[in-house]
This record gives sequence, structure tokens and C-alpha cells, in this order.
Amino acid sequence: MYDYFKQYPHDVVFYEKWIKDRLPQSFVDAHAHFNLPEHVSNVSAEAIAGDWALESGLLMSIEDSDTYLQTLFPDQSVFRICLPWPLRDADTVANNQYIANLIQEHDVRGLFTVRPEYSRDSIEEAFVAGHFSGFKPYPYMASTTKGADVSIFDFMTHEQFKLANELKTAILLHLPRRGRLPDPDNIAEIHLILDRYPDIKLVVAHFGRSFCIEHFEKGLEKLGSDVQGLYFDTAAVLNPRVFDMAFNKLDHRRILFGTDFPIMLWHGKREWSDGQYHNLVREEFSWNRHPYPDQEKDYTFYVYEQIKTILDLLGSDEQSKQAIFKENALNVYDQR
Ligand SMILES: [Zn+2]
Repeated sequence: MYDYFKQYPHDVVFYEKWIKDRLPQSFVDAHAHFNLPEHVSNVSAEAIAGDWALESGLLMSIEDSDTYLQTLFPDQSVFRICLPWPLRDADTVANNQYIANLIQEHDVRGLFTVRPEYSRDSIEEAFVAGHFSGFKPYPYMASTTKGADVSIFDFMTHEQFKLANELKTAILLHLPRRGRLPDPDNIAEIHLILDRYPDIKLVVAHFGRSFCIEHFEKGLEKLGSDVQGLYFDTAAVLNPRVFDMAFNKLDHRRILFGTDFPIMLWHGKREWSDGQYHNLVREEFSWNRHPYPDQEKDYTFYVYEQIKTILDLLGSDEQSKQAIFKENALNVYDQR
């Protein structure tokens, strides 16, 4: 458990006012990372210090997650899609095995992290034996630089995509490249995946890393009709303009709610300018620049802000709420 995770009285007030009765009684978190300390003991202090997200949260056991969720959502039951931590220096074999154990011992589903060097046979064996519901490749497997200009096929090979296609399973794809969703090479590779591997359910994480409206708007435009073949998850996205565009332009059956825990456990929100986002946070992380020190004590949980944003935009559209917060994830990440 992270010591910094604390609930304040104003968090309870916020929850009761904006979330408790509007969020479905049971919902799915389709994007959260689970591991044990020994799985990431080789991740260096420099790597953690160099990435605000890793400094926020790198560890989460299923027991930690139980506590976080019971604190945050005392009136809801939360079904979890469990992802490993797909970091290059992580012990991926052990982390995948931990997810397989969770699938067996708890009422959860899980994704399997592939590394580009894994053979097709070894992946298939572990995937089928572990009853996984999809793959979770990650650009870190090709480069430890965040947003590096690597190809998707550098961190998940064509042979591995072919296997996923044969298994007719899901892939939760975190896009590489500085240009994010609209990057022409990302657009071309997404097109190629949809074209060549039509039985894969391709979920683009974080709306294609579209934390800012500029990326999302351009990305949707460039995707054209390919957008109808994709799913998107909401993990870590807070921007009301991105959600507004998503709800207006995308089929609601293709949007999956996700939190990105244990990264987004802090109190705060974001602001956006010129295609960049800035985290505003109460907790004392090394990256906290304290731009508005007087306001910090009033910040509530980031995830509450995210859920409120979604609920405000969906209004009384119960059907979309059920789809986005529950049904879509259960359909996409089906259990075998
Ligand atoms: Zn994530």
C-alpha cells in the first residue's frame, strides 16, 4: 500500500455528491496494473525518478487493490481486468504468472504481457494455460524512453500478432512515438493491423495517449473509417474535451472505462495547454511543481475527477453508462 494514499473528509463529500448514486453499482476497471515488489526489483531508481507515472505508483498487489477500491468506492463492486507491469526491467515471466494466479484464485480476468523475443509456442502455451483474456504489449520493451519513435512491431512482432489473430483475442495497445495517436506511422500501423489481423480486438489505451484534445481530434480525423474497427480505453484521461469528442464521435460500445491504477491514486487534476498536459497534485512527488499551492488541499482523487467528467457528459444515458463502465470490457476481454 502506498502511504500517500489517504482519504480526507472532503473526498467522501465529493463521492457522495457526484459519484455514489450515478456510477453503476457494479463496474469494471479495464486497465490496472498488478504486481509484487519482487517483479520490479530490477527497475532502477533512475528509471522511476525519470518517469512521473512510475514514481506515482509502481506496485499493486490484489490485496492493495482491494483496499484502494473499498476506500474509493464503498458502495460499488468493481470487477478487475488485471494487467502486468510491462516494463523492460520487470520480471515479466513471474509477473505474468502472478496474473495467472489471480485469474485462478480471484474473480478477475487478466492480460498477458508479451516481449518481442518470446516464441509463438511459449506464448500460446502460457496464454492458454493461464486463461488470459488478451495481450498487453508495451513500447518499453523496445525502448525505455517514454514516447520513443519505435514501431509497434518492434515490441510485438508480426508472428505474435498472427497468434493473437488466431486466438481471436484482444490486444491492449499503448501507442509509441512522440506524435501519439495522429502520428502518421502509428496511423499506418493501426491500419495494417486491422487489415492483416481482422480477428484481433484492438484496444487503444488512453484514447491513443490523447490526453490533450489536439491529438485526439487529429487522430480521429486521420484514422478515418478505421476508427470503427477499434476500441479505446479511458485510462488516465481526464480531459473533458477528449471525452466529449469521444462520446460524440465514437460508438459507445467501443469505449472501455479504465483507471491506470496504481498510477492514478493521488489527489489532483490536470490542466492543458498547447498539446501538453500538466499534473496538478496534492501529494509530494519529486515532479510536483506546486503551481497552485493554496488549492492543493482541496483537490480530490484524480479518479473521482475522471469519473465525474464522464458521468457529467453521459447524463442520464444509462445504456451508455452500462456499456462504457461494464459491458464493453467484459465483451472485449472475454474469458476462455
Ligand atoms: Zn497503464
